[in-house]
Amino acid sequence: MLASADTIAAIATAPGSAGIGILRVSGNAAAAIAATLLGHAPRARHAHYCAFRGGDGALIDKGILLSFPQPNSFTGEDVVELQAHGSPVVLDLLLRRVCELGARPARAGEFSERAFLNGKLDLTQAEAIADLIASQSEAAARAALRSLDGEFSAQVSHLLKNLVDLRVYIEAAIDFPEEEIDFLAAPELRQRLDAVSDELSVLLAATRRGVRLADGLHVVIVGRPNAGKSSLLNALAAQERAIVTPIAGTTRDVLRENIQLDGVLLTLVDTAGLRDSADIVEREGIRRARNELERADVALLVTDAEHLAEDLVLLGPAQSGQARLLICNKIDLTQTLPQRLEHEGNVRIDLSARTAVGLDLLRHELKQLSGTGDASRGAFSARTRHVVALERVAAHLAAAEFALTSQNAGELAAEELRHAQRDLGELTGEFSSDDLLGAIFSSFCIGK
Ligand code: GDP
Repeated sequence: MLASADTIAAIATAPGSAGIGILRVSGNAAAAIAATLLGHAPRARHAHYCAFRGGDGALIDKGILLSFPQPNSFTGEDVVELQAHGSPVVLDLLLRRVCELGARPARAGEFSERAFLNGKLDLTQAEAIADLIASQSEAAARAALRSLDGEFSAQVSHLLKNLVDLRVYIEAAIDFPEEEIDFLAAPELRQRLDAVSDELSVLLAATRRGVRLADGLHVVIVGRPNAGKSSLLNALAAQERAIVTPIAGTTRDVLRENIQLDGVLLTLVDTAGLRDSADIVEREGIRRARNELERADVALLVTDAEHLAEDLVLLGPAQSGQARLLICNKIDLTQTLPQRLEHEGNVRIDLSARTAVGLDLLRHELKQLSGTGDASRGAFSARTRHVVALERVAAHLAAAEFALTSQNAGELAAEELRHAQRDLGELTGEFSSDDLLGAIFSSFCIGK
């Protein structure tokens, strides 16, 4: 608890929202401010009908005053909420009055920051609040709520515990050098390492899905000119957004379309065809297409059964973490049936952008990839920083494994695991070296 926290105040509702405006106050002076406005000390968590008056006694508004004494409040400090009419003028007068009485205007995110500092939320939960507010789809909102509920944090904590156990095990082996060789070579150690690696892989995949859920799925449509990229974008967007013509090289720039697919946000990017061109404008379009491709969650290659193999070569190697969908378009011309197949580890879908036959197969596949399909029930929201931190954890784990198996170097492995722990602790903001020492001493009897 921050005993000396100054008092902050802010309007907590958008102007004019449903006629109600909420002013939130948090800090040491909150209780005194409430008592001044009310004329007596408020009862905890009790709705008081209150005439809010200025310093000169003039009425500002009448509304509800609620008091949440510490520690049972959002921030963990004394919190007071004033509900008034939603007029920006009224709320502004009220904010000024509260500041006269000892508060100061809060900075962006300061309530959540205090909740974090006071141990009410961890970092991922605090971030989930912002993600929930910013969510643009039902799926994103649900996922942010799960993160706020601590689902992501719980999985990180579980992994962190296993990582700490592993390090404790290795450090014990180092502390007792006469047993070191046996300890470090023991199959149990390999099994534990593998288990932690597997757990991390699952968490990393879920976290990547969580980023897609929060940000939407970034899908880039690529393929040779005239393959039917614009037609496919139009069919998915169900509106005439991209210009469709039979002249190769029409889509010279990059076209973007945001669509909602059963509550999931998809950003579809239609690009210039990936081919060699002498035309300088088209070449620029192709360069941009390549750039888009590098950043995409999903590369959607539009081709046909005849050109599939050579177009895959044109596409080049996949980016790490990127999914690929191979679309064999124009099945109406070959009079073949729509279908979903596996092709060299990628999913291939045969469809017709023109007749929309097989489009449902593609929609289903995109939904799965977006993290809201059947395979991802219980998904939580996440951010790119979480993915980056987890990738660092994975690199340290791999290095620890190498140190143990190829160099038989327990010290090095322990050091790598220490870095992995620090990176994992960065996610929730939870771990400090004191905590680590505590964990080591509490699980190991030094007198052994
Ligand atoms: P892009 O250059 O890859 O964007 O291709 P377009 O979407 O502009 O399509 C090129 C041509 O192929 C147009 O004449 C489209 O009408 C045609 N086309 C696109 N998809 C299909 C399809 O599924 N079946 C048939 N028969 N023609 C298609």
